[in-house]
Amino acid sequence: MLYCIDLKTNQVHILGCRHIPKKNVDKNFLGRFDNPNDAITDAGLKGYTNVNSCSDCCSSST
Ligand SMILES: [Zn+2]
Repeated sequence: MLYCIDLKTNQVHILGCRHIPKKNVDKNFLGRFDNPNDAITDAGLKGYTNVNSCSDCCSSST
């Protein structure tokens, strides 16, 4: 899965989620990860704080 982050809410989304901001300045591409947790961890490493996952596209099935 490809993930991006909403820069206003620090919410991680899977690419294609309808909750991703439309403006490029409001989002940032994170990369390809196997699961939302990895994307959140990577976002933390990139300096984002209070990162959370979108309950719509990242609701874990595990
Ligand atoms: Zn989402």
